Amino acid sequence: MAFNIVTINKIRERFEPAPRPEIWKDVAEKDWNSWIWQQQKRVKSMDQLENILNVTADEREAFAKTHEQFNMGITPYYASLMDKDDPNCPIRLQSVPKKEELTILEADMEDPLAEERDMPVPGITHRYPDRVLFYTTHNCPVYCRHCTRKRKVADPSSSAANKQLEDGLAYIEKHKEVRDVVISGGDPLSNSDDRLEYIMARLRAIDHVEVFRLGTRNLVTLPQRITDSFANMLRKYHPVFVHTHFNHPKECTREAFDACARIADAGCVINNQMVLLKGINDDPKVVKELNHKLLMMRVRPYYIFQCDMSQGISHFRTPVEAGINIIENLRGWTSGMAIPHYVIDAPGGGGKIPILPEYVLKHEGKSWTLRNYKKNKFEYNEP
Ligand SMILES: *Cc1c(COP(=O)(O)O)cnc(C)c1O
Ligand code: SF4
Repeated sequence: MAFNIVTINKIRERFEPAPRPEIWKDVAEKDWNSWIWQQQKRVKSMDQLENILNVTADEREAFAKTHEQFNMGITPYYASLMDKDDPNCPIRLQSVPKKEELTILEADMEDPLAEERDMPVPGITHRYPDRVLFYTTHNCPVYCRHCTRKRKVADPSSSAANKQLEDGLAYIEKHKEVRDVVISGGDPLSNSDDRLEYIMARLRAIDHVEVFRLGTRNLVTLPQRITDSFANMLRKYHPVFVHTHFNHPKECTREAFDACARIADAGCVINNQMVLLKGINDDPKVVKELNHKLLMMRVRPYYIFQCDMSQGISHFRTPVEAGINIIENLRGWTSGMAIPHYVIDAPGGGGKIPILPEYVLKHEGKSWTLRNYKKNKFEYNEP
């Protein structure tokens, strides 16, 4: 790739390129760096996966029982980050099926965030006063095992046809209160550049749309998708925000670094939305390392989501205390920029609710008893 980072090479060198497993050792650099090649060679079967790592009996059985409901799909790039021998590798846990996916708890829900209920037209979720979610496709390069939209993602019959797209745009045009549009999916970068440009141009033609965001995991799962021509196209539609989904420091590779650099150099602000996942990132040390790496990649940690109540992901769910503990171990101990909001997206469509450690020990009238990050007590009296 012709892309050349001049000023931050020293930081860039700290990010290791993804290792190349044996079966892809001889693939030409230009193919490996091509997102089309990466899409075409996605790992979709156990036999293919077996060529890359030592598949366990549990994974084999889980695949057989789950792949009809929720496909497995892994780009060679993302697969190359997996540990061959450790089934609890954080990359593997996010992309290879586990038997626990078949466990459906009574408390699990098919549409926990009531995204369908708040759909005035198919493809738009309008829950908050001034912003909407806009679904533009149901495909993703890698199908995350913890996906909250499992019921839709990877199901070709539910993909957003052109009529749905037009209806969504018409809805946004008619609703003058919408000043922020979250272009979502699936992964919107599964659309062609032309289709994305069409969507962004249409949104920019609407006066009351002030900003929009692209919610994409391609920076993590298919960084090759961020070509120079794609990044340059974004420049025409500013202000454009990019919201992505890194969950573990292992995902912060040289390739991801370069993809983020292209987006940031094109003038976009990048925010990260991590999902709190048991055995993957429910440890403050892991989150701190991740967030420090993200800042070096010019990505601002934005949210930590409590794993929601979608069906078949209960093995990823942590107690709420795990999230509070992460914030407790960040606030004060590291840059405020490295501290995202920990939120619970309330079941039933209540929206995102922030959860914080208790810093107010007592509050009476104008007198506040507070504690700091070291648990020292302070009094604040309103004059
Ligand atoms: C998360 C979400 C948004 C965006 O929320 P922000 O807090 O502004 O990032 C908008 N609409 C819906 C339905 C959402 O779930
Ligand atoms: S990229 Fe997002 S929408 Fe796609 S499978 Fe992963 S979590 Fe779900």
